Amino acid sequence: MRVYKFGGASVKDATGVKNVKRVLELTGARDVLVVVSAMGKTTRHLQEVVNHYFNDQDELEAAISAVYNFHQEILSDLFPQKSHIIYEEVSNHFKDLRGFLGRNKSPKYAFVFDQVVSLGEKLSSAILSHFLLEQNIKNTLLDSRQCIKTDSSYREAKVNWEVTQKQISQKVNKKGITISQGFIGADDNNFTTTLGFEGSDYTAAIFAYCLNAVEVTIWKDVPGVLNADPRHFKDPQLLHQISYREAIELAFYGASVLHPKTLQPLQRKEIPLYVKSFLNPLNKGTCVTKGAALTPYMPCFILKKKQVLISMSSLDFSFIMEDSISEVFKLLHKFRMKMELVQNSAISFSVCVDNTFNNLQELIACLKTTYEVNYNENVILYTLRHSKPEDLEKFTQGKTVLLKQESRETVQLIIKD
Ligand code: ADP
Ligand code: ASP
Ligand code: MG
Repeated sequence: MRVYKFGGASVKDATGVKNVKRVLELTGARDVLVVVSAMGKTTRHLQEVVNHYFNDQDELEAAISAVYNFHQEILSDLFPQKSHIIYEEVSNHFKDLRGFLGRNKSPKYAFVFDQVVSLGEKLSSAILSHFLLEQNIKNTLLDSRQCIKTDSSYREAKVNWEVTQKQISQKVNKKGITISQGFIGADDNNFTTTLGFEGSDYTAAIFAYCLNAVEVTIWKDVPGVLNADPRHFKDPQLLHQISYREAIELAFYGASVLHPKTLQPLQRKEIPLYVKSFLNPLNKGTCVTKGAALTPYMPCFILKKKQVLISMSSLDFSFIMEDSISEVFKLLHKFRMKMELVQNSAISFSVCVDNTFNNLQELIACLKTTYEVNYNENVILYTLRHSKPEDLEKFTQGKTVLLKQESRETVQLIIKD
């Protein structure tokens, strides 16, 4: 069997949902598990709901209504018959959301985030499943929370592979079409958890690994993996084939076309991953597999915006050694900072982090008790792989480089935005 993943961009409106049917038909997908993300920007809009819930309840109802109306518009295009059961199902999901927000006593942002934001995937999967049924494409809707079992690190839950494997083997029918949600799972108490932003790619990989799928295809609004981020570089080129290792490096340092955790489970079982255009589903796209680093061989340019560069030096003339560095790492872990790059010298230590969970000020306050601390917010981390010295020279012209690190195949630069 195969695993397909349709991201938010592929189901951002009614036309997108209709196109999923077209992709299934054109590619002759019969035995396939389809993982779907929330429609368009729903996840971000539901995050707004959570923010209003915590910060200004006056705006809460308007934020919920915006998400409701967005989905109603898609429904009225896909299901002209107003008596269709999907209308009731969607309304029930919103009743559940309001019920949860009314009852909830937990002050924990991450916990509430997961209970609320998971609505996006519940809606998209129900809508897609019913739409396909309407079009005479038989399918089963599977609640991925019955399969993807995790710990309780809300917003970035870790998968319990053993239990997940067991559940998937029991619950998934390898024949026919199954529709399920990306991004979400459940912990031991059956509370909903999420796997991190853009985590639906990872869900597809988890299912593929546990089902021994023959391949995974991720359907995107780009022709495949390009050698540069098309939003920031002119004329990016399509990479036809890349190795798992190359894909991991690109994804980890910001090629947001792939979620970094997706690759390792697939690599373990050598399951090929295709990244293809949902508009041109018969085009080859990119194949991530074992083998040559990249074909055709060319430099790759990726970037990660909104990073923070923190530099610290000791207050008391001591050197920054293993013991002090280990304390810094502990604090980074405590405040859930994602570390992208480190550099140290005898008396200073610099680290570039991603402030995903908004804990920067708390971290800085802690560091200041021991170090003199300087930090730059909003820096860009550029990663150049397989580049030549002349590429680098051209690239850095006119830019303020705050830090540079070079290894055989990779140059990383931290640049002021
Ligand atoms: P999804 O709909 O699955 O959520 P995303 O929007 O997260 O898809 O990912 C696709 C986007 O990733 C593209 O539209 C593109 O702008 C961006 N992107 C960043 N780096 C790359 C790259 N190297 N190759 C292709 N796309 C890239
Ligand atoms: N809907 C989730 C997000 O926007 C997961 C995903 O799209 O992969 O992050
Ligand atoms: Mg996305």
